[in-house]
Amino acid sequence: MPASAALIEYAEEKLIVVAKAALWQQFERWTRPRRNAVERKMQGFFRAQHREVISSISAGKAAFTKGPSEWLDQQKWLLILEEYGQLFLPEVIGDKGDLEMRKLLIGVDFDVENPRVLAFINQRSFKFSFDTNKGTQKALQAIFTESISAGEGVRELSARINTLFQFKNKHQAEQIARSEVIRAANFGAEQSYLQSGVVSEKEWIVSRDLRLCPYCEPMKGRRVVVGMVFFQQGEVLPNADFPNQFLKLDYEDIFHPPLHVH
Ligand SMILES: [Zn+2]
Repeated sequence: MPASAALIEYAEEKLIVVAKAALWQQFERWTRPRRNAVERKMQGFFRAQHREVISSISAGKAAFTKGPSEWLDQQKWLLILEEYGQLFLPEVIGDKGDLEMRKLLIGVDFDVENPRVLAFINQRSFKFSFDTNKGTQKALQAIFTESISAGEGVRELSARINTLFQFKNKHQAEQIARSEVIRAANFGAEQSYLQSGVVSEKEWIVSRDLRLCPYCEPMKGRRVVVGMVFFQQGEVLPNADFPNQFLKLDYEDIFHPPLHVH
């Protein structure tokens, strides 16, 4: 690594002496208000989608002639969510990058306009929007199919839709917020290590909760060179508890947590 060896040692030593639990708590505290903000925003989007779907299917026979692909204006929602990604991702990445850079005490500023950072924001905004909308569409399609095969009317269909969006507001908004903010924060941290030139390795730290997960638990304490992957997309992980079960990492290359969605 370039720069001074003393600084490398300093950075690594600091990583070792700080209790891992304390590091996790700091991270938890730091991400919490950001996760909450994204969660509230997602709940707002889901509420608006809920109203849009109900109003589409309430328009008489439309519910059963047009399928779920017509219940929401998909182009509009792809754009809305992508724009939101473009808004919150740079904030999380920039703030976390600044924070980690300050901890290194080397007087270098984090560059959020770096091409790698900009590319991540663009790809991630698109994927976040695409996946979220695809998930909603898939869930609506499943409801529609069940409702039709049960011979239901608009009233019963609406009830199923209400249940779906209640679930989205209560659980999925939080799940999306957690994974997006954690991913962006860890990306920002790693980019600051790369930009600093003085950090050589990164270590995977698991939360107390994740120690219960048979895939995340074995990640505890794993180290790789900064900028390298922990796993490549497509790799398959064994389940520590059940030898016949596996986790296929088909979503993306894994440079940092989250390993998968909980
Ligand atoms: Zn896990």
